[in-house]
Amino acid sequence: MDLLPIFVSLAGKRVAVIGGGVGAARKTESALRAGGAVAVYAAALSEEFTPLSGRFEHIAIGLDAVSFEGFALCYFASEAGEVDPELLARARAAGALVNVVDRPELCDFLTPSVLDRSPLVVAISTGGASPVLGRMLKARLEAMIPAAYGRLAALVADMRRPLAEKLGSNAARLRFWERILEGPVAELALAGDESAARAALTHEIAETAADGSVSGGAARGEVYLVGAGPGDPDLLTFRAYRLMQKADVVLYDRLVDPAILDKVRRDAERIYVGKRRNDHSMAQEGISDLLVRLAQEGKRVLRLKGGDPFIFGRGGEEIEKLAEHRIPFQVCPGVTAAAGCSAYAGIPLTHRDYAQSCVFVTGHGKDGPIDLDWTTLLRPRQTVAIYMGLAHLDGLMRQFVERGADPGLAVAIIENGTRASQKTVTGCVGDIAMRARAAGLRGPTIIIVGAVVALREKLNWYAPEPSVDNLARAAE
Ligand code: SAH
Repeated sequence: MDLLPIFVSLAGKRVAVIGGGVGAARKTESALRAGGAVAVYAAALSEEFTPLSGRFEHIAIGLDAVSFEGFALCYFASEAGEVDPELLARARAAGALVNVVDRPELCDFLTPSVLDRSPLVVAISTGGASPVLGRMLKARLEAMIPAAYGRLAALVADMRRPLAEKLGSNAARLRFWERILEGPVAELALAGDESAARAALTHEIAETAADGSVSGGAARGEVYLVGAGPGDPDLLTFRAYRLMQKADVVLYDRLVDPAILDKVRRDAERIYVGKRRNDHSMAQEGISDLLVRLAQEGKRVLRLKGGDPFIFGRGGEEIEKLAEHRIPFQVCPGVTAAAGCSAYAGIPLTHRDYAQSCVFVTGHGKDGPIDLDWTTLLRPRQTVAIYMGLAHLDGLMRQFVERGADPGLAVAIIENGTRASQKTVTGCVGDIAMRARAAGLRGPTIIIVGAVVALREKLNWYAPEPSVDNLARAAE
């Protein structure tokens, strides 16, 4: 290791920045963020300095007159990239540590790529070898470390003293924090419920045994109700991905894509509770009971659902049961099929010229075709997205016409949306059932009814599915 990583306190210290360009503005901003008192030496300042105005001192005099006396750090960030060695020596002689932008060989210290989850800060340095590589690694960490980690760290900081008063031994405190930072308290903080997290942590501190473990009784499990999106694993949220890495056991549906299931922690137990129309592998009651039982055994249970758990996903029924048994749970939203499929098929669900509202309905009730509210569905300038509608497609389309819709109203059916096998069939209310049969559609499908469907044809560069790649190509 050629460089010693340290975090320097800048509060109340003076920092000199030489230069008025973009690079100088960046250095100014990070020094200000850390509480430094910054003086910028430059004949003129670029517009990047505008958002910072009033927070630093601008000195436009020639550098010959600068003494560097009293500066802790000095950044040489002139646009031209040249540095006067005499100036460098002067800054050093005055006791400042020196950084010259893009010239690691001249630097006393390097500026890392920074991931800021204050008070948690991750700094990455490549020792000047490849700042781009450092930034790429930072982007990966951004995805891995939830934004709320800072809040969690701040909560822990507040509670360190109360815990130390309760637990004398270092090992006991270590054990306590390991348990807490992996468990429901941390999840509460990460999910944004700070006051509940604080209350739960206070309770844990009061209840902990002398060795830092849970006093009396087994550890409590918890349930994560997670939306896995319609199929493409790229549509998982960061939070879904993180919870997938924590789970001890996962209960998943037929609609969860195998590529997504692959991303669940390797050694997690997998339980299929799939539901097919008319073939309920496990009745809803059974699933809810299983969730409760596994959590009561102290497990972290992941309930992975296609799309969003609260949209035709029966997530509401499951959390009712969990709440009844006082099992801690959290719900992580997912991209619902209508949103995912329409985006990948090039159909905007709303559009100022064609549709001002969009409704999601299910075409299938508890026992067969559902009785829909047709007055609402047939409102003008509206898009209707129908879930679970393929089995009753004929009847549904017939009803649209009988209730007064124009038989020429555009319809698209998207099968296996967002997956490599995505297929889109378009037509109109009058002929879509015939077209769907001809195409051999089997589901899962989303049916989109409305004038917005016609937009897909307008985008004539829109090539065959899956459209993600085509969109990317078209953008190039
Ligand atoms: N909670 C899910 C919906 C569950 S209901 C969500 O928010 O998306 C199951 C129905 O969703 C299917 O019958 C189908 O209508 C639709 N669906 C789910 N995934 C789909 C996909 N990849 N392509 C098309 N339709 C899909």
